[in-house]
Amino acid sequence: MRRARFSVLLLVVINMLSCGKEPVRHIPHAADDRPSPSASKTVRVLILDTKEKISVEAGSANVACRQSDNTITDGYFLEGMMTVSRFGPDLKISKRGKNFPETPILIIRPENEGGFKINGKSYRGALMLQCGTANNILAINIVEIDDYLKGVLPSEIGYLKKGQYEAFRVQAIASRSYALSKLEEKKGELYDLRSTIMDQVYKGIDGEYPEASRAVEESRGIVALWNGNSIKAYYSSCCGGYTADIRTGWPWKADLPYLHGSRDASASKGRSFCSDSRHFRWEHHWEGRDLVKILRKSLPAELGSRVASFHRLIDISVTGMSKSGRVKGVRITTDNGSYEITGDRVRWVLRPASADGPILKSTMFKMKVKREGGRVISVDLKGGGNGHGTGMCQTGAIRMAELGYSAAEILQHYYPGVTIKRIYQ
Ligand SMILES: [Zn+2]
Repeated sequence: MRRARFSVLLLVVINMLSCGKEPVRHIPHAADDRPSPSASKTVRVLILDTKEKISVEAGSANVACRQSDNTITDGYFLEGMMTVSRFGPDLKISKRGKNFPETPILIIRPENEGGFKINGKSYRGALMLQCGTANNILAINIVEIDDYLKGVLPSEIGYLKKGQYEAFRVQAIASRSYALSKLEEKKGELYDLRSTIMDQVYKGIDGEYPEASRAVEESRGIVALWNGNSIKAYYSSCCGGYTADIRTGWPWKADLPYLHGSRDASASKGRSFCSDSRHFRWEHHWEGRDLVKILRKSLPAELGSRVASFHRLIDISVTGMSKSGRVKGVRITTDNGSYEITGDRVRWVLRPASADGPILKSTMFKMKVKREGGRVISVDLKGGGNGHGTGMCQTGAIRMAELGYSAAEILQHYYPGVTIKRIYQ
């Protein structure tokens, strides 16, 4: 509706911008086209955060200039390639050496379905560019949620084989539920989702895959609900045979009854659905001196300046085990202090190779510590799984798909008690 109104205005008002000296169709006061709260099918995804000049390409696009108080002060029509850079507190569009009015927020809405390119990467929907507080530019993709999901699925669950297709549908419903749960939470903020593992990896059109897109279309509007709200459908690669309980993995987050963890098998003593994963069981060994080097960086990175510099690692121990076989926390005692790390954050501190390297695969482990002369000389872990383990186990979901379970059955296995329902057409 809003878009139609915008286009009509475009057709009737033609003007020339004084500073650009380029003939453009000019829109004096276009409608504010932020997604309204009721338009729950549109998400705002942060796709780029940069201090560099960026290039934007759209076949033909409506450009709206918005002020910080959300009033639209200008609107015009541009075609082809343009560059956008910071200009003091504003953004500046240049095209073939000509400049257009400066504004803190720009909304570039392509007229056709082809979307736009930003720094050579293709996206569906519209683009909002906004000044950040650190002389940066935030690029936010305003996109229909199902188009967003097409750019998410292959990055999040891979390129599934024949016979695993149902897992694409499962991932589509889980990712849709997760994204919708964010809309409410992020209302009033600049964007709903980041395009990284912090939320869900999203690569736009370049990240799409036909079979995954088909699953998104077939499952259009279907979500998992708890008490009528889209669930926080967390998922991770491999649960190691037992999914994590949010209360011990992420004790700082709100408790959600469908995230209390359970065996990842059809029967309590059956074979785990994810047991073929290469991450199902793993081991790791640190020499004491190597672990000290890692902790000297990773402990302050996690706990901040209250970590005093230290020479020796005197002890390291597990503070408790959860029902799923994950550690509830780890206590680290140095010659200059003692610190407790809780829940899933343990993975950020006990990094396997180096303080800058990957985090530990999971908190599902048993620890064996050798001490000598008042210090730790080696630590061995026997572990299972890869990822936080809360919610859906993706390897298990793929296996369940192979075994013929339906998407609804798979979702109800990982998020017990939820309702699967189509909430929009
Ligand atoms: Zn599993």
